[in-house]
Amino acid sequence: MLAGKTALITGSSSGIGLATAHVLAEQGVNLVLHGLLSESEGEKLAQSFIEKYAIKAIFDNADLRDANKINCFMNYAIEQMNGIDILVNNAGIQYTESIERFPDSKWDAIIAVNLTAAFHTIQKSLPTMIKKHWGRIINIASVHGLVASKQKSAYCAAKHGLIGLTKVVALECAEEGVTANTICPGWVDTPLINDQIAQIAQQQHIDFERAKYQLITSKQALPEMLSPRQVGEFVLFLCTDTAKGITGSALPIDGAWTAQ
Ligand code: NAD
Repeated sequence: MLAGKTALITGSSSGIGLATAHVLAEQGVNLVLHGLLSESEGEKLAQSFIEKYAIKAIFDNADLRDANKINCFMNYAIEQMNGIDILVNNAGIQYTESIERFPDSKWDAIIAVNLTAAFHTIQKSLPTMIKKHWGRIINIASVHGLVASKQKSAYCAAKHGLIGLTKVVALECAEEGVTANTICPGWVDTPLINDQIAQIAQQQHIDFERAKYQLITSKQALPEMLSPRQVGEFVLFLCTDTAKGITGSALPIDGAWTAQ
């Protein structure tokens, strides 16, 4: 059902975005891959998808902190692929520090990449989705879009904002065949959380695996991390016809983190 459609996944050079790209490519979905790789690394990545799945794939390394670069990226992708059918705003960054010591530059970067970039990509993708009367906008938020943790002021602000933005898009597009949802994962096994694990290991003089277990169980009832692929499979479900009534939702997959 999805074969021949095009998905643009920001931050698909790593972690959740890369796993989602594989899940969608398995269904014959063409891809706009993206992330902070060099041109040659990106081309290699796109080529590997073309060869493995016999789909069309292109790559761009626009820095999402820069609105002009996002605009160029989106114009290029829409022109090359004749519109975007599935938009996955996934790229994200993290920095942990108390509010009193939180650096301005980190605040600005987190808000730009985790929130403002999604505003720009949605605005650019919508006209062709509306024209085709079909579209899926899936924003990867976090449990931190629903609840807070200490030392994550910018991240929580951005993720709460992303959920609000998504609800408005869902309302405005409900009659246009376009759904908009956020997925709110708990801990997912990707490079994004390695700094937090390393910090615990250093502070408590314990090894990386022990620190990882401690991080997981400090928040989740389920004592294991999600795999990036589990998030990708959830994205795929939201693209199906079965899920066309799900819009404006913030959907946790969080090992009962937010059940407490
Ligand atoms: P990751 O670090 O593996 O991947 C991040 C991606 O974003 C990479 O492709 C990177 O190149 C890209 N990126 C970072 N800064 C960028 C910039 N300035 N411009 C363009 N691209 C940039 O991280 P991940 O864990 O796969 O995270 C993906 C999303 O999932 C993020 O939005 C994150 O907040 C969210 N999330 C992650 C977890 C987790 O536990 N890993 C939990 C909940 C939500």
